[in-house]
Amino acid sequence: MSQRKIVVVEDEPDILEAIEYSLVREGFRVVAATSGDAGLETVIREAPDLVLLDLLLPGIDGLEVCRQLKMDPVTQKIPIIMVSAKGDESDIVLGLGVGADDYVTKPFKPKELIARVRAVLRRGAFRDGGAGNGRVVRGKLVVDTARHEAKIDGELLNLTPTEFRMLHLLASHPGRVFTRDLLVTRVIGDGAAVIDRNIDVHVRSIRKKLGEHRDLLDTIRGVGYKFRDEEGD
Ligand code: CA
Repeated sequence: MSQRKIVVVEDEPDILEAIEYSLVREGFRVVAATSGDAGLETVIREAPDLVLLDLLLPGIDGLEVCRQLKMDPVTQKIPIIMVSAKGDESDIVLGLGVGADDYVTKPFKPKELIARVRAVLRRGAFRDGGAGNGRVVRGKLVVDTARHEAKIDGELLNLTPTEFRMLHLLASHPGRVFTRDLLVTRVIGDGAAVIDRNIDVHVRSIRKKLGEHRDLLDTIRGVGYKFRDEEGD
């Protein structure tokens, strides 16, 4: 496999050096940028496999960089992992809302960072290669959009249309965190007058129907939900 290229946008020299060291040691190629503006330019120029994006940056901040990259058809498919200070859950929610694929909080261990990077790259490869046939298989769970059927352990799950769309979306992106807002937009639609809580009700109902496999859906406190990533953390 060819060397994967990662753009790291980080203004703190010590952290940048540490990230660069960890990635290079694992065989990645790193191109660094130390401000939001430079980050945007670098991503457009380098077309990397992934972007590690600090939130607090001089000039335009990480959220805006993320928003711009995800709006640009040229760069929108490049996965972005946000790097934020620990506990800044509201920033994480905003970042995921503008299309970031995952996040790590500082301080992080190099091992954790590499695991996240690999997981996001793997998901990207899966999405490009295996999507579109309308059938998602995750262990004992099968979600078949052509038949509009979901089965666990061979047993048909009696899902409502909303529950089916939600399970399909989550299972299509194992390990990816979806905020409640994003789930409302993607599963229920912009026009519907839905409050956040309804998402929790749907998830609770899906879990009940999954029975002993209920823990396939993880709750990310203060953020949203994700489908369990078996190979990930
Ligand atoms: Ca910073």
